Amino acid sequence: MIGRVSTPTIRPTIASLPSYVAGRKPVSALAAPLASNENPFDPLPSALAAAREAAESMNRYPDMAATGLRAAIASYHGVTPDQVAVGPGSSGVIQQLLNAVCDAGDEVIYAWRSFEAYPIIAAVSGAASIPVPLRADENHDLDAMACAITRRTRLILLCSPNNPTGVPIDRADLVAFLAKVPGFITVAIDEAYADFAPSDLGALGLLAEHPNLCVLRTFSKAFGLAGLRVGYAIGNPELASALRRTEVPFGVSTIAQRVAIASLEARDELMVRVAAIVAERDRVTGVLRERGFSIPPTGGNFFWIRATGEPYLRLMAALDAADILARGFVSDGVRVSIGTPEQNDRVLAVLTTPELFFE
Ligand code: PMP
Repeated sequence: MIGRVSTPTIRPTIASLPSYVAGRKPVSALAAPLASNENPFDPLPSALAAAREAAESMNRYPDMAATGLRAAIASYHGVTPDQVAVGPGSSGVIQQLLNAVCDAGDEVIYAWRSFEAYPIIAAVSGAASIPVPLRADENHDLDAMACAITRRTRLILLCSPNNPTGVPIDRADLVAFLAKVPGFITVAIDEAYADFAPSDLGALGLLAEHPNLCVLRTFSKAFGLAGLRVGYAIGNPELASALRRTEVPFGVSTIAQRVAIASLEARDELMVRVAAIVAERDRVTGVLRERGFSIPPTGGNFFWIRATGEPYLRLMAALDAADILARGFVSDGVRVSIGTPEQNDRVLAVLTTPELFFE
C-alpha cells in the first residue's frame, strides 16, 4: 500500500548532484562582475533593434528548425546548414549531445578541471563521467585521455581554450589525439572562447577527415549575447540531425535567433570589441606576470591563478573586499574575467604582489 504521506521520488543521481554554481551577480552598482566570463560591452544598437523587432511576434512560436540562423552560421563558417544544430546556449547543445550519443552507463571523458557544467550534464543524462586531470602546465593531458578510452566511451569533451585555466589545446596535439580515437566515439571540441584565442585551432578544417568530430560554439562570449541563450554545434549531418532531435522544442526563441543573425552580420564591429578585450587581457596578465604571479597562457577572456588552502582564501577575501566578484574553485584556484579597463585596474590594484597571498 502506498503511504498516505509520500514525496515524489527523485533519481538518486539528481538528489546528490551539486547545482551549477553560476557566477555571482553584483549586489551593488560598484561591484565588478568578473565571475562569469561575460562580455563587458553593452549590446550593439543593431542587436537591440533586431531584438525589438523580433519581440513584436512573441505571441508566436519560434522557427523550430532555426532555418535562417542555421543558414547564417553555415555561411559564416563555410559549412552546410545540415551540419549545424542550435540550442539554448552551448550548455543546451552539450546536453543535446549527451542525450544523443550516451545511453545510461556510457562513459564521457573530459579534462578536469574544466567547464563545471560537464559533470552535471553528464550525470543528468545518466552517463558516467571519466574526468582526467589536467597536466601540471594546466593543458589537457591528451595522452591520458586517450588511455581512458574503453568500450563504453561514447563522448570525449575537449575544451579549448579551457575554462577555467585558459590554456588552448595545441593543434598538433589535437591531430595526434584524433588519430588515436576510434570512429564510433564522438569528440566534441568546446570552443566557447575561440574568438579570444591567439591562433585558430583549425578544428572545423578537421571535420572532413574526422566525421566523429564536432565543434561547439556560443554567442554568449565574443558575440556578447549571454542573456539570449544561443549556442550551436557543427559536425557531420547525421550528428547534427540527432542534436536537433534532442533539443528542447522551441529552445531558441525568435528574439535569440534574429539577434544572433544580426550579430553575425555585425561581426566586424564585434571583432573590434574582441580585439579590445584581448588587448586588456594581455595587458593585465602581462603586469601580473611581471609582478611574479604564475598565470598560465590564456586564450580566453579570463585568467587563472592556481591556489589552494590559505592562499586561495586570501585571494578571494582580498578580491571580495574590493567588491570584485571573481570565480573561486575551492580546491583549485581563482578565475578572473576581463572586464572594462577600469575594472581590470581594480583587479591590478588588489593583486599587487604574490607574497601577499602565497607568503
Ligand atoms: N562552454 C564553456 C567552456 C563555457 O565556459 C561556457 C559558459 N561559461 C559554456 C560552454 C556555455 O555557455 P552558454 O551556455 O552561455 O553558451
